Parts: sequence; C-alpha cells; structure tokens
Amino acid sequence: MRTRFAPSPTGPLHLGHAFAALTAFERGRMLLRIEDIDTARSRPDWETQIYNDLAWLGLDWPRPVLRQSGRLSAYRAALDRLCAMGLTYPCRCRRADIRAALSAPQAGAPVIGPDGLVYPGTCRERPLSEAGPEDAIRLDMARALDRLGPHLPAFTETGPMHPGPHRLDARALIETVGDVVLARRDLGTSYHLAVVVDDAFQEIDEVTRGEDLFEATPIHVLLQALLGLPTPAYHHHRLILDDAGKRLAKRDDARAIALYRAEGASPADIRRMVGL
Ligand code: GLU
Repeated sequence: MRTRFAPSPTGPLHLGHAFAALTAFERGRMLLRIEDIDTARSRPDWETQIYNDLAWLGLDWPRPVLRQSGRLSAYRAALDRLCAMGLTYPCRCRRADIRAALSAPQAGAPVIGPDGLVYPGTCRERPLSEAGPEDAIRLDMARALDRLGPHLPAFTETGPMHPGPHRLDARALIETVGDVVLARRDLGTSYHLAVVVDDAFQEIDEVTRGEDLFEATPIHVLLQALLGLPTPAYHHHRLILDDAGKRLAKRDDARAIALYRAEGASPADIRRMVGL
C-alpha cells in the first residue's frame, strides 16, 4: 500500500510531523512529497532539515522526491480542464471584501469552512474571459455538484476518528465549504488542486494525514470525481497537542525534532513522546 508524507518546508519538523511521518511509514510504503508551492514561505534549508530528521527517525522513502514547485504545469493542466468544463470563475475579492460582503445585513451568519470564511459568491457571474493577474480562480461549487449529478462520490476513512464510508453531501458542500479557490492569484494553483493532482500522480492508495484536514477531504474527493482521478482511502490521525491542549504549529520551535536531537533524545524517545 502506498502512503505519503507531504510536509511543507516552511519551518522545522515538530512532533506532529514526526507522528504523521511515522504513521505513513507504518501503514505502507511511504512516499515523500515536498509541498513547496508557497515559494514565499518555503526554504531549501527547511527541506534539508526534513530529510535529515526523517532519516534520523529511521524512515526511508523512494527517490527522487516529488516537489510541488516542479509540478506547476500539471496543476495548470488540471485547472484548464475544470475551466473548460465551465465550473470556474475569476475572483478579485480580497479578504477584507469578503468580510465586508458577509457583514451586510442580508448576508446571514458567516460560516467558517476549511479555507476560512465561506465565500459569498460576489464574483460568481464574472466570465472566465475577464481573468487577469489580479484574479484568483474559484470553483463554482453548485455547478460542480450539478455536473456530478445526484449520485455523489464517497470515500473510505480508515482512521480512528471518523469511521466508515463518507458520501459527499451537496448541501454541506455548498453551505459549509462553498466556492473554494483552485488557483491563488500569486501561485496559479492551490493546496486543494495540487494535492489532488499529486496524490493521483503518485498513485497513493491511502492518504495519511492529520485530523485537521478531515474537513478538506470532501473538496479533494469532489475534485477527483470532476477530473476523473481515483479516490484513495483516507486515514486522518489524531493531532499532537501542546501542554495547553492546542495543536502544534510550525512556529512551535520548542517542539522541533532538531531541538530534541540536539538535547540528546533518541528516535525511540520521539516515538514515546507521540504515543507510539
Ligand atoms: N502540506 C501539508 C502540511 O504541511 C499537508 C497536506 C496533506 O497531507 O494533504 O500540513
């Protein structure tokens, strides 16, 4: 079974990453993917540190490693297909515009989805021919669902927290996810599009990743169905929390594997710390 660990080289690997990588490694043949599309935040030295820390933990993976920065034309091709299907539109709204639209009296209570505030659809009627460098490209969720018809796809969850198959729910996708960004203005792609294209390209059987991404999974399954790509199984694992019960973030350098290493911890110590 092919699994993957897909870190972004935007900070040191911390205990949460170690747990994700160890989980992927234990559940199958772990492929590594460097998610470095965000070139403003990604740094080669963080990438090197990822390789060092993973090797130190006793993991290995097939080479060459897939790096998203080298895959932009594949994302572009997928975006073009969705555009050709008439499922996208250009959007020039900034965060402040979205907040303003949502605070209008008739707007109702704003909903927070996997990408933040659910987009109110301000630009939805703009034609794609208007798209320029100032625009992001959004998926028209209602049209995408129409295209798939009444029998929506499902995914299998093998993780401990959300057992069972999950069929996509059109109403939930419209109301709590909405018109997600497929291509950011600055990047030409988005996390959702890139991850879907790459999981298919790497022939991943089971996507192992943190519970925080469970809510994003229906977006990925939807994109797979639209693009005619296979849907892997998903295994969302628990998150490693800090002492205050908050999930670890890249800025929690105190939990960096490199720091534990420097203090003389062993890989077995790390496994214990993450509850393995
Ligand atoms: N690159 C993401 C991260 O560093 C993980 C994405 C995924 O596993 O789908 O959190």
